Amino acid sequence: MCCPSCNQMVVTQLVHHAGALTWLSCGGLCLLGCWIGCCFIPFCIDALQDVDHHCPNCRALLGTYRRL
Ligand SMILES: [Zn+2]
Repeated sequence: MCCPSCNQMVVTQLVHHAGALTWLSCGGLCLLGCWIGCCFIPFCIDALQDVDHHCPNCRALLGTYRRL
């Protein structure tokens, strides 16, 4: 895509971080009795996390993909 900040064609860098769905999964696992360490598993699964798109040139945040 074209970065609006530095006006160059870039391939965005993806940064995963914990989002609402990650916390919900954590809470769900806790309720199921997996509260000794297991509830942190969602934090290790990219599919359950929000994704930030960053420009590799100027580090600008180009967008965020949320799971919820
Ligand atoms: Zn840029």
